[in-house]
Amino acid sequence: MGQLYLNLSSESVMIEVKELSKTYQLGKVDVHAMVDVTFRIDAGEFVAVMGPSGSGKSTLMNLLGCLDLPSSGSYFLEKFDIRSLSPNQLAEVRNKRIGFVFQNFNLLPRASALENVELPLLYGRIQNSHQIARDSLERVGLADRAMHRPNELSGGERQRVAIARAIVNNPAIVLADEPTGNLDTRTGDEIMNVFSSLNDEGATIILVTHERDVASRARRIIQMKDGRMHQDILNEGLIA
Ligand code: ADP
Ligand code: MG
Repeated sequence: MGQLYLNLSSESVMIEVKELSKTYQLGKVDVHAMVDVTFRIDAGEFVAVMGPSGSGKSTLMNLLGCLDLPSSGSYFLEKFDIRSLSPNQLAEVRNKRIGFVFQNFNLLPRASALENVELPLLYGRIQNSHQIARDSLERVGLADRAMHRPNELSGGERQRVAIARAIVNNPAIVLADEPTGNLDTRTGDEIMNVFSSLNDEGATIILVTHERDVASRARRIIQMKDGRMHQDILNEGLIA
């Protein structure tokens, strides 16, 4: 993949998107969900994405997570051009380099917490997957709930399991689309503590939220509006 290497000045660039756009066809109507979004995110950043409902936040996250492909523009992840990867390589990137956390947890209801966390390892046929999954649950403070099924856990605990699953392969980036949206304020705070400590350990985190106090935990805030990037600001006590 040598020819796909983008010659960037900084070694620490994790994500670079240029004029990234996504248009959905709804019957005869074109929906411009994202228009010409350009930014760069370095390794180790903690970024919050904000904006009104329908402004393109989830579309952006799905593109960054390689769950969907752009209509136009470019996306370099760890210097590799996403458009040039084969379906197998894309699946590998999704499994190994990206951890995704959703608002509604997306856990398998019949599987234990441990089995849920172990799942991404099984795709990769990794040895010792039990222990690695246990360690991941430990990182989110949930080792003592390993054998519980999702319906035997609180909302906050379910989201911790989902985070443990997202980080089990030690991904380069963790993407979270409204991870505290279904949680009360106190539980949401606890979940944000988990993201903050992952960030302290070096993970790059991009997190969508509606709530200003959640966004205030991030060091940088990207505001979306009508599918475009409206603002890109450093959070230095701005939202106190
Ligand atoms: P947000 O997450 O900020 O609420 P979305 O990214 O989900 O916004 O949606 C952005 C716009 O794209 C909205 O107008 C939405 O209706 C539209 N959209 C999202 N997904 C699809 C789809 N699969 N097909 C058609 N339109 C879509
Ligand atoms: Mg959304």
